[in-house]
Amino acid sequence: MTPRNVDTIFFDLDNTLWWFDRNSAVSLRNTFERYDLGRLVGFEEFYQVYERNNSALWELYSHGLTDKDHLILERFRRTLQMLGHKGDLTALSGEMNRFYLNDLAQQPYLIDGARELLETLYDRGYCLCILSNGFAGIQQGKLASGGIDHLITHVVLSDDCGITKPLPGIYEYAQRVTGTEPEQIVMVGDSYNTDIVGAHNAGWATIFYNPDGRTPQGVADAMVTRLSQITPMFS
Ligand SMILES: [Mg+2]
Repeated sequence: MTPRNVDTIFFDLDNTLWWFDRNSAVSLRNTFERYDLGRLVGFEEFYQVYERNNSALWELYSHGLTDKDHLILERFRRTLQMLGHKGDLTALSGEMNRFYLNDLAQQPYLIDGARELLETLYDRGYCLCILSNGFAGIQQGKLASGGIDHLITHVVLSDDCGITKPLPGIYEYAQRVTGTEPEQIVMVGDSYNTDIVGAHNAGWATIFYNPDGRTPQGVADAMVTRLSQITPMFS
């Protein structure tokens, strides 16, 4: 990749910098124990059913086909229903979701190399920003728990503009917030459809963080399997 007049780097947060999968597994286990779900199923089964429901709902959410309030409640409600939980599932799901999100925002694990990458790029004078479909309040907590909040200048969230990646409006919104033009920006993210295609269509350069290497590079300007491979791309 040849950076153009790049001075601003947008990072996706979950599973690009902040190790969502690991942190979420810890918080789901804490939630499972807090609500004593072991009387219904083992943790592994709970985890798998929740993950399937959550992924399906996020897919709808990222295409603007459902809203946040429905997503955060429904992922737990469906899971409890499938596992045969009786009673007022809507009230319980709301409570479980609040517990889970609060616990999640306190988990500290980062993707390998994330801190070193951010520190190096920060020292080299780049403006480092977040572009995330995650929720306001929670995403800032994750940056703080990961100890990287002081390296980030702008946190741009779909929650703040009402438009999710990969819809075009969120990239224009991010440019307005940061006062930048497409030629100045590189987007780094782990989701080909959500992070790379949308940013590419907005005229941004893109780096696809693809740790398992299973998805083709497609329209991405560069592809890496480790974050440390990004450091030499920026002088
Ligand atoms: Mg991600």
